[in-house]
Amino acid sequence: MSARIIDGKAIAARIRDRTARRVSDLRKEGITVRLDAIMVGNPEAGTIYARSQEASCNEVGIRYHFHALPADSTDQQLRDFVQGLNRDPQVTGVLLNLPLPDSVDAAALQYAIDPYKDVEGVNPANIGMLFYDCPIIAPCTARAVMEVLKETGRDPRGLHAVVVGQSVIAGRPTTLFLLQQMATVTACHCETRNLQAHTQSADLLIVAAGVPHLIGRKHVKPGSVVIDVGINRVPGPGGRTRIVGDVRFDEVAPIAGAITPVPGGVGPITVAILLQSAVEAARKQGGTRRVID
Ligand code: NAD
Repeated sequence: MSARIIDGKAIAARIRDRTARRVSDLRKEGITVRLDAIMVGNPEAGTIYARSQEASCNEVGIRYHFHALPADSTDQQLRDFVQGLNRDPQVTGVLLNLPLPDSVDAAALQYAIDPYKDVEGVNPANIGMLFYDCPIIAPCTARAVMEVLKETGRDPRGLHAVVVGQSVIAGRPTTLFLLQQMATVTACHCETRNLQAHTQSADLLIVAAGVPHLIGRKHVKPGSVVIDVGINRVPGPGGRTRIVGDVRFDEVAPIAGAITPVPGGVGPITVAILLQSAVEAARKQGGTRRVID
């Protein structure tokens, strides 16, 4: 039997539709959702990001502003700029585009964003609230993984979930979400010995290591759910590059119960969740700010 292939683009389209309706409802309440993206240096990538982010925002009715800041900006200048966006009541969401120049303290700048405007949900305050099971805005990639899981109809309660990769933006918040949903979770990382011994017994296998084709058939329990977060650019035919995941899709799809492809799996859902988070951010800024909402 072959796995059900989860269509990330279809899930993303549903999230965008829901988000567009919420944007319009908020507008009726007098709240305009606005996302301000910052790019430091890197004008070429900046132009590409700006175009695609603006198109995504336009599609759901979110106002988009792009700020291209000079590559030689000091940490203080950048923090001052972010503080200005934090203070501006018209700005309801702030997004820091990567990569940043090596000279910039990326974590400090990310942390300077008001947790209520931090649409990516990676500010320590947001990660901390997630730990307490009451996030203000949760990290987008982990939420995308949980959307996939919902789509499969598998209740994580009591299942063995294995999360390969424990980064702050992807693996670790996914581990927390699964724990909150009462899965029994094994957190694997680059120092894990005998990875296969852990993954083999996973009912739910989430892979976010950034290692192309790390997971093959021998790592996977037949009938399990396999969610591939990896996005890796590798050499392709004719000197071109192509995108692959962390999972050997062709090997694993015939034995898994459900699987996400790369591209077209978790990636598009993450982008849609970012827009949804921008709306949640705007809504939570309306009226009194409550930490628990
Ligand atoms: P990261 O480099 O910050 O973290 C990688 C994690 O994987 C670390 O915890 C590391 O210990 C672990 N790891 C590395 N090699 C391993 C191995 N051989 N065995 C077990 N664990 C190993 O990466 P990240 O930012 O979390 O990104 C991971 C991947 O997910 C990348 O391919 C990235 O492009 C992709 N990504 C996708 C989305 C999306 O929306 N689909 C979002 C964020 C990141």
